[in-house]
Amino acid sequence: MAEKLIAVKGMNDILPPDSARWEWLEDKVRTLMASYAYRNIRTPIVEQTSLFVRGTGETTDIVEKEMYSFEDKLNGEALTLRPENTPGVVRAAIEHNLTYDGGKRLYYMGPMFRHERPQRGRYRQFYQLGAEVLGFPGPEVDAELMLLAHQLFADLGLHNIRVELNSLGIPAERQAHRAALVAYFGANAGLLDQDAQRRLQTNPLRILDTKNPAMQDLVLAAPQLLHYLGDGSRRHLETVQRLLDACGVAWTVNHRLVRGLDYYSHTVFEFTTSELGAQGTLCGGGRYDGLFEVLGGRPTPAVGWGMGLERVLELVAQQGEIRAAPGVDAYAIIHSADALPAALKTLQALRAVGVSVQMHAAPAGATAGVTGGATPGVAADSMGSMKSQFKKADASGARFALIFGHDELAADEVTVKSLRDGAGAQERQPLADPAAWARKLQSSA
Ligand code: ATP
Ligand code: MG
Repeated sequence: MAEKLIAVKGMNDILPPDSARWEWLEDKVRTLMASYAYRNIRTPIVEQTSLFVRGTGETTDIVEKEMYSFEDKLNGEALTLRPENTPGVVRAAIEHNLTYDGGKRLYYMGPMFRHERPQRGRYRQFYQLGAEVLGFPGPEVDAELMLLAHQLFADLGLHNIRVELNSLGIPAERQAHRAALVAYFGANAGLLDQDAQRRLQTNPLRILDTKNPAMQDLVLAAPQLLHYLGDGSRRHLETVQRLLDACGVAWTVNHRLVRGLDYYSHTVFEFTTSELGAQGTLCGGGRYDGLFEVLGGRPTPAVGWGMGLERVLELVAQQGEIRAAPGVDAYAIIHSADALPAALKTLQALRAVGVSVQMHAAPAGATAGVTGGATPGVAADSMGSMKSQFKKADASGARFALIFGHDELAADEVTVKSLRDGAGAQERQPLADPAAWARKLQSSA
């Protein structure tokens, strides 16, 4: 036997029945997005590396150490598997002049790639849901985006999720705060770890974001950006807070919530839980009014968030009810290959009117080396015993078995047998007009 191949470390297969939970989540997302008038955008998974260097930021963890970058073998282009999708969305918006006739509300769902140490809630390929609103400057869209995330969690039956926010003001205000931070950390240089010493030069704001327990006291006492905000920035933040209050969403200000890059402004926020261990951030976002210009577009205000769906689903598993994958309405038991043409035709007709049916298929080995029978390549006796087919029907979760046997076929009929409520009850139905009796098979009927 050839050597077995396995998936890349940190990249997961999503298999049935677990994949049904993903589809359930995706359905909830689509319904919710439609109700907020957000429309779907799909951009490529591979982009020019420079998009992320400029759009995510040279001094971020993502660009410094987490990107899957490679050279196109044919033309030498520097390419990267997207580690996040905001830069891709903004690139597409600029390239297609998406905001020419006004603002746009967009969302996406898909895989992102980061070379991190795999652990619970942290993978190298993971799925993000993102929402981005382009072309609107006001605090009402910041609030709308936060309400959207909040509502999704509610729709998924989740609770105990904290909403934290902060304001980064505008660049001039941040410059003043930055100077104060550099002076403060400079005066306490002895207490800085290596990472922080490096960031003191490149991106001092991000020292506030440190996870090093030894630096927590230092960081808590650092100058707070809020004290450097002007009237406009303060009003922006207060309006977001007031709108959340009006909608009954509780929030707290977290001074340490920062983004170190100049194209961010005003609102930043996170949704976190204490129930997922160290990987408790479910959703993070903020306003990035300067990003369009950084990527060569016209000045365009914008705000958005990204949400890690593995973490969301893990919380659903922990807090919500466990959802069993839905079974099919019916399982088709096919006595012999002679019955296949009539059976398949009937199943097609049933599915066309909304009945879900699983067709019995010959098990591995049954057809090997056998020819003959009504359907070329399939032996008359190759479908498996009736007993084994009934077992499969039971295991499928179907409520009914449709039996395509000899007697039935001779009469142009099929036997419909109940496998659940009133198990055993059965009746013959005509093959001529399946739509006439299909309704009886549906779970909702
Ligand atoms: P963290 O602090 O957990 O590394 P981050 O700041 O890098 O998060 P963002 O870039 O804001 O995360 O991405 C948005 C969301 O995507 C996160 O809040 C998280 O839910 C999810 N996420 C980020 N990285 C991963 C990963 N490697 N595996 C799974 N989910 C992730
Ligand atoms: Mg990260």
